[in-house]
Amino acid sequence: VVQLVWFRSDLRVYDNAALTEAMAQGPTIALFVAFRQSWYQHDMAPVKQDLIRRRVQALQQELAGLNVPLLLVEGNSYQDVQSVFEQLLPLGIARVYTEVEYELRERRRDQVLKDWLAVRGVAWWQCDRQCVFVPGSFVNGSGAMYQVYTPFKKRWLQRFAEQGVQVLAKPKPQAPVVLDLPLVTPMQGGNNSSADWPVQQDDVMQQLRHFCQQQVQDYQKLRDLPALDATSRLSPYLAIGAISVRQCIARLQVEAGADLQQANSGASVWLSELIWRDFYKHVLVAWPDLIKHQPFQTDTAAIRWHNDETLFQAWCDGTTGYPLVDAAMRQLNQTGWMHNRLRMVVASFLVKDLHIDWRWGERYFMSRLIDGDFAANNGGWQWAASTGTDAAPYFRIFNPVTQSERFDPDGIFIRNWVPELARLPNQHIHWPHKLPMSKEYPGAVVDHAKARQVTLELFRHARQQG
Ligand code: FAD
Repeated sequence: VVQLVWFRSDLRVYDNAALTEAMAQGPTIALFVAFRQSWYQHDMAPVKQDLIRRRVQALQQELAGLNVPLLLVEGNSYQDVQSVFEQLLPLGIARVYTEVEYELRERRRDQVLKDWLAVRGVAWWQCDRQCVFVPGSFVNGSGAMYQVYTPFKKRWLQRFAEQGVQVLAKPKPQAPVVLDLPLVTPMQGGNNSSADWPVQQDDVMQQLRHFCQQQVQDYQKLRDLPALDATSRLSPYLAIGAISVRQCIARLQVEAGADLQQANSGASVWLSELIWRDFYKHVLVAWPDLIKHQPFQTDTAAIRWHNDETLFQAWCDGTTGYPLVDAAMRQLNQTGWMHNRLRMVVASFLVKDLHIDWRWGERYFMSRLIDGDFAANNGGWQWAASTGTDAAPYFRIFNPVTQSERFDPDGIFIRNWVPELARLPNQHIHWPHKLPMSKEYPGAVVDHAKARQVTLELFRHARQQG
C-alpha cells in the first residue's frame, strides 16, 4: 500500500503540506499530470508550460533525494482524470494527497475524482494553503467577504500578528520505494522558452533571499520604474508553486523583520503586494462566477466596447505609436513577463484608449504570461477596466505619455524594447510624433484626449442603462 501525492500548483518539496502529510503516513509516491488540452483551453502560455515542464523535471530529482518516485503522465483534458488514476490503482493507493486549486473547473475535476476514488476505496486528503489564510475565513461586519482591499488587509495583518506564518520543512527521506513504473513518460513540448528562469529550488530560494536582503529596502522607492530590476520577479514561481507565499513572508521576516513594523518601509509595501495576491484569490473563491468572465460590477456589463480588431492587433504587436505601451507589449511578447506598472498602463490603454473589452486583454495576457494566474490576472484587468472589486474609478484614465515621463524618465526601458526609437533624445522619447517620423515607428493609432472622452461617455451610458 502506498500514499500518493498529486502535485499541481505546488511544485516544491519545502512547505508542502500534502507531501509532508503523505510521507508521515507511510511509503509515498508522487504524480504530476500534464493536461495539455485543458491547459490549452485555459489559454496557458507556452512559456508557462515550458516553465512547468522544467520545474517538474527538477522536482523529480529533488523528490528522488527523498526516495519519492515522481510519475509523469501526459494526460489530455480534465475529463480524462479518472483514466489516469485507473492506471495507478494497481499500485495499491491508500489515499491521494493534494493542495486545493481554486478555479471552478479544477474544483469540479477534483470533486468528480474524489467521488470516483471513494467508490474504489481510495481516500482523498486536501489542504488549503495557496493563500496565507484560507479563503472564506475573513468576513466583514455583514458576514460577507470584503469587496475592498484596505479593510481586508487590516484584517489580514491582525491575523498575521496573532498567528504568524508556519513554513513546513522539507520532509526527511523515506526508505526507497520499489515500483514498476510503466507510466513514466517524458513530458513533451519543451521549447526552452523559459530558460532565463532557473528552476532548481536552491536558485529560486536564493533569488528570494537576495531580494529580501539586498533589494526590499528600496522596493517602495523603485518598484514603479520598469527600467530597473527592483521587484522580486518571483511571480512565475508563485504561480506554479515552485515557492510558497509563506516561504516569501518567513524570509522577509528574517531579513527585514524590524522594517515590517514601519508603515511605508519597502518590506511592508512588499508584504502588501503578497496580501493583494491573497485578496484576489479570496475574491475568486467568494465570487466563483468571476471565472466565467463576468464583471464584478454588473452595471459595467452594459458597456458597448468598440472591439476594433485592427486596434487590438496593434496593441498585441506593440505598434500603437505610444512608446511605453509598445515597449511593454514587446517585452511581454518576447519574454513572457511584464513589469507591474506597465501591466496597469497597457491594460488601461486597451480599455480606455482603444475601447476594447477588457476580456480580450485578459485572455491575451494569459496566453503570453509566464506567471499567468487567473485570480491576479482577472483582478488586475478588472481593476484597470473599472469593472472589479475595489477597482480604479472609471474616470481615472492613465495618460500613457505622462506615465512614460514619470516612470521611464530617461527612456531607458523604451529604448531597450523599441529599437526604432533608440536614438531619440529624452525630450522626444515619450512622444516622438512631433519629429518628422522615420517610417520605422508607427504613428499614434488614437488621440488620447479624444479617446478619454469616449470612455467617459461609454461608462456614463452603461450606468444610465443600469
Ligand atoms: P513583486 O512586486 O515582487 O510582488 C511580489 C508578489 O506579490 C508577486 O510575485 C505576486 O505574486 C504578488 N503580487 C504583486 N502585485 C500583485 C497584484 N497586483 N495582484 C496580485 N498579486 C500581486 N500577477 C500574477 O502573478 N499573474 C498574473 O497573471 C497577473 N496579471 C496581471 C494583470 C494585470 C492587468 C495587472 C495590473 C497585474 C497583474 N498581476 C499578475 C500582478 C502583478 O503585476 C505581478 O504579480 C507582478 O508584476 C509580478 O512581478 P514580481 O514578482 O516582481 O512582483
